[in-house]
Amino acid sequence: MKPIRVLQWGLGAMGSGMARLMLEKTGLKIVAAVDGRPDYVGKDLGEVLDVGKQLGVVITNKPEEVLIKEEVDIVILATTSWTKEQMPDLTKIIKAGINCISIAEEMSDPEAQNPEISKQINELAKENGVSVLGTGVNPGFVLDLLVVTLTGGNHHVERIEASRVNDLSPYGPTVMKTQGVGTTPEEFRAGVANGSIVGHVGFPESIHMISEALGLGVDRIEESREPIISKVHRETPHVKVEPGMVAGCSHIGIGYRGEKEVVKLIHPQQIHPHLENQDTGDYINIFGKPEIHMAIKPEIAGGVATMGIAVNMIPHVVAATPGLKRMIDLPVPAALMGDSAYHRRV
Ligand code: NAD
Repeated sequence: MKPIRVLQWGLGAMGSGMARLMLEKTGLKIVAAVDGRPDYVGKDLGEVLDVGKQLGVVITNKPEEVLIKEEVDIVILATTSWTKEQMPDLTKIIKAGINCISIAEEMSDPEAQNPEISKQINELAKENGVSVLGTGVNPGFVLDLLVVTLTGGNHHVERIEASRVNDLSPYGPTVMKTQGVGTTPEEFRAGVANGSIVGHVGFPESIHMISEALGLGVDRIEESREPIISKVHRETPHVKVEPGMVAGCSHIGIGYRGEKEVVKLIHPQQIHPHLENQDTGDYINIFGKPEIHMAIKPEIAGGVATMGIAVNMIPHVVAATPGLKRMIDLPVPAALMGDSAYHRRV
């Protein structure tokens, strides 16, 4: 089997983990790597990943030098959460005629908040004969694809309520800032008001995806964000939280059809929840015929599963018809454990 050739763009907490995972997969080969960090540029990827060997891939901050259609089948983008911010890089990739998977949360369903940009990406991808997918653990899997899949045998669905109680500790500085981790409660509220603290990025995308997949007709989405204030000292490699400071954000998103609440997603996210005896878990409740209650304890590990799902979707995106795709549009994700996993029918 000829391996799929991958360019890893963004080598932060997620991107470097994806790159290490790809090194374990016989069906994938990392052929190029891009990151803007001056301390990475010019180094061999093996050195930055600390895998004890040179990989013959030199990290560059000049993507145009490595965006070569004849040498790269797909780019994995792990740089930002925002569709608009990602557009210049994504446009370069698509115009180079190369497929792309992004883990930017908003890219999981750009139509939810940026219908014009979504249309633009879809058209550009079709013109250039490539497919583009946004994915990740959430949005992209737990609070959308898994919810949709669980309704697969339902006769009807009245309402959905799902929650993900998770641990933010594995994530990098980008996530800490957007969740307000390490701020004072006053800074948190000011950050929510001025838009610098956004909590979970992805509720509009997940709710839109669920509504579209089932035809629930959600016409309005409301969100609320509250600080999770720590009683104890908590610390990760990227942030320190003293008692009285903010360890995370409790975020709720509700999708309405008219006045009826049809999808409610609840997502309290914090670093080291176990330090205050909070268990993690993913819970999905479908109210309809039949009624379904699913609990996964502990949570599906966020960092690990984001790396996993982005890598596992590579063969499906390479094989997909051109255009902008969502997780509800492609074959179900599965771990890439052997040859047949790379050759599913799309
Ligand atoms: P991080 O801050 O650890 O890493 C980002 C990396 O990208 C850094 O190395 C930075 O130098 C590089 N970078 C940023 N912009 C760049 C550009 N334009 N060109 C080249 N390099 C650039 O962040 P992370 O924890 O790895 O997460 C990356 C993004 O993925 C975040 O925005 C995060 O919110 C998102 N994410 C999404 C999901 C999901 O479920 N969909 C899950 C995890 C993370």
